[in-house]
Amino acid sequence: MPFTPFHMGQALAVKAVADEHFSLITFGLAQLAMDIEPLVRLVRADPVLHGFTHTCIGAILIGGLVGAFGMPVARRVLARWRQELQAARLGWLAGPRHLDWRPAAAGALMGTLSHVALDSLMHADIRPWAPLSAAKGLLGAIPVGELHRVCVLSGIMGTVAWVGRRFAFRARFAHSGRFR
Ligand SMILES: [Zn+2]
Repeated sequence: MPFTPFHMGQALAVKAVADEHFSLITFGLAQLAMDIEPLVRLVRADPVLHGFTHTCIGAILIGGLVGAFGMPVARRVLARWRQELQAARLGWLAGPRHLDWRPAAAGALMGTLSHVALDSLMHADIRPWAPLSAAKGLLGAIPVGELHRVCVLSGIMGTVAWVGRRFAFRARFAHSGRFR
């Protein structure tokens, strides 16, 4: 289901640690791609909302597709993000100029796989191991309210840590040709 803001919370914590080795943009595109199926099923009033896309195999396939076909979109988003920050005199926050395939693939795959893990905590119709097993994954392991609090908190802490890190290393970001 479209819980994208919550999915992004954990990604921001990863971003604070992995920074330029992990693309938040392809992670975000992966969230959108993952929830196309439940959205279509919702419109059709299907009793099952989460099908093949919300399995590990489906997530790997979608992650691969996002990594391959999302690159032009991700590069445009990155260029726009850098442009806006430079205009606001926040160039030190902009990060690398080029999006390499490795951070893009890491963002896309972590995006789709963590999406299945997080969704399987809250939705009873998810079978993460299908077709190998009909087990329900992590359903009920954490109360949904608690889960949302953790995601929001990790999003806030991750953002603060990431901005702090880029500010601390701003000299490197400003002088290295890779980041200009
Ligand atoms: Zn979902």
